[in-house]
Order: sequence, then C-alpha cells, then structure tokens
Amino acid sequence: MNTAYPVSIYIHIPFCTKKCGYCDFYSISGGSSYYSSVLERIILQLKTFIAKNPVIDVYTVYIGGGTPSSLPLNLLESFLSALEDILPSNVEEFTMEVNPEDIHKPFLEMLFSHHINRISMGVQSLNESVLKVLERNTSRYKTLKALDCLASNWQENISFDLITSVPGQETADTLRDLQTLLKFSPGHISLYTLTFENGTPLTKKLEEGTIHKVSEEHEAAMFDGCTDYLEENGYYRYEISNFSTPGEQSLHNKVYWDLNPYFGAGPSAVSTIPFQNKALRIENPRDMKSFLHGNFELINSQSFLLEHLLMGFRLIKGIHVGRIESIFPIDIFSTFTRTIDNWSRNLKFNEGYLSLDRSGLMLLNKFLSDIADEIPEDLPENYSWPLRS
Ligand code: SF4
Repeated sequence: MNTAYPVSIYIHIPFCTKKCGYCDFYSISGGSSYYSSVLERIILQLKTFIAKNPVIDVYTVYIGGGTPSSLPLNLLESFLSALEDILPSNVEEFTMEVNPEDIHKPFLEMLFSHHINRISMGVQSLNESVLKVLERNTSRYKTLKALDCLASNWQENISFDLITSVPGQETADTLRDLQTLLKFSPGHISLYTLTFENGTPLTKKLEEGTIHKVSEEHEAAMFDGCTDYLEENGYYRYEISNFSTPGEQSLHNKVYWDLNPYFGAGPSAVSTIPFQNKALRIENPRDMKSFLHGNFELINSQSFLLEHLLMGFRLIKGIHVGRIESIFPIDIFSTFTRTIDNWSRNLKFNEGYLSLDRSGLMLLNKFLSDIADEIPEDLPENYSWPLRS
C-alpha cells in the first residue's frame, strides 16, 4: 500500500452502558466480558496496519463508538497507553466521544495526559421529556454537572451533539438547550435531525403508533431556528449538520467528507485506503468475535464518484470541482448538465467549489438522487486517488 500521504484513524469501541432507543450504531450493553479481548484486537489491527505502512503519517485520530467513556477507567487508560506506543506523537487532532454521565475530574485529567485534545460530548438534549423519548441513559442534572466539570477541568477543544425533531420537542426547547450550551463556549456544535433507523425500538414505537414524527414544516422550522441562533452567536455552518467557530471545524470528519484516506479499527469500522492508485474499502464485520476478518473491495469509479458527490454536497462550501476532475476522467459541468440546469436557482459556483444554498440543502436527498441518476454508466475505471485539493 502506498502511504506517502496523511491517513486518519477511527477506532470503534462497541460498548454502551445502555442502548438508546434511536441508535443503530454497532454497540452492545453489558459486554464487559468482551472488553479486554476487543481492545487487544483493536490494538493488533492498528499495529498490523502501521507495520505494513511504515511511512504512515497519522493526521487525526477519533475514538468513537459506542461509548468509549463508558469503559472502566483503568482499562481505558491502558488502552490509551498502548495507542500512544504505536501512534506518532504529532497527531493534529485527537478526539474522544464521551457521554455526560461518565465525566469526572480524574477522567478528564487522564484523557489530557494521553494527548486527547478534543472531546465530543453526546448531549442530545437538556430536556427530561426529550431524553426520555430518546431513551438516553442520562438526565438534565447529570449533563449540567458534566458541563460544570468540563468548564473547570478541560482547556482543550469541545464539541457538543444535539438532536432535533424528536417527537414532542419544540423549537424553544432546542433554543434553550443551545443557549445553555453556548455559555460553555464550545468551538463546535453538531445538530442532527432525528432519523428513524430500521429495527430500533423508537422505530417500532413509530410503527405501533405510540409516537408520531414531527411534521416536515416543524422539522424545517426547528432546524432553521437553531441555525439562525447559532449563526447570530458566531457559529458558522460548514456542513449540513455541523457548526463551528472560526478554526474549530472537525478535521477528522472533514477527512470523510473530502474523501481522504482513513483507516478504521474495531467491529463495524470502515476503511478507505489507497491501493495501486485506487480506493480500497475494508468493512469490519458488525460482530464481536470475527471483526478481524474484514471484507475487502476495490471501489469502482461510478460508486466512488457517487461517494464524492454524496459527501461533498453535504458541505456548505460544496464539492471542489477541480479536485474531482483530477481524480475522475470527467468534466463536472458537461457530465451533470441536466441536474445543474434544473437546480440552477439553488446552486452556487464560487472559487472552484460548487455548492447548494440553504434552501437547496433542505432538499439535499432529492438533489443527490438527481445527480446520482446522471452519473455516466460507461464511466472509465481509470480514476486515480488520492489527490488533495
Ligand atoms: S450512547 Fe451513543 S452509541 Fe450508545 S446507544 Fe446511545 S447513541 Fe448509540
């Protein structure tokens, strides 16, 4: 494998204290008998990858899941020490996902001593009834306590996740949550609209009619209200669900959206890494016991172009036309004439980037389906990746 370029690393810790009603990420609750073996295998996966790519330059690391913070402190500490032994020390951004109920001073000190420089906290809501609908294992009180603890003991970067469009949630609830959270000066906020994933308990309740989706108008109004509030307070929307103050964008997530190389370790983690100038996709199984035996596939040009469009148009600045044209043998404007004409009122072309405006982003899925339909069936396979903008 050629690794003369930066690679980001995602580590999936597949454990949660309790499963939330809406979540379809791969994780189990009550999995303590798996802790040590899974952590050891993750380290082994990373060691193997790095041993095969000795000139690797690690750009960002993101420990997610699952809930990494739910691991017992001593296990988490030995895991972070093992990571320290195999990763270079000059990682640009090192994030760990945490849940409010796990935050306390010794925990934060331990993260800092292992060079974690960004915490992403799953707040989701500060409203008790919204937390109850989501079946979160926390409370308003615990989250406020965690926020106070962060304010006193954490000087590094912070991101908060919030969910909107929860049944019963009003725009005023989310605005109040944002008002409280902004007092803690996070550099970054992710604002997700609740989605009903197949097979989750929340979707079952929806199907049974015990809960009801919020209307599309209410969903749009709630998201718009929050977007306006964040923008008025100095948070710039740089991706469909992500806002930051200047210089605080998530470097790691931008690697996904820009389709730059990343390696995923742990059950269900996905990698996209270069192999002979093509993109090699590796998907680790969503299965605790066999996750080391992943599936490998070279991504064909049609699918990989589609991924560039799906990811790139989520970004507020849009797709970098020159970069895509340097990877694929196409001219964007003549290939997608129909979509570009039909969406001309919502599209902007600025400094080499083609993007959707705010009302276009509201219809993102429709736009993506139109542009996907126009990908040439005879697109040649001679694409060349990665090239950086
Ligand atoms: S804590 Fe996070 S990963 Fe775990 S079940 Fe809840 S949403 Fe999913």
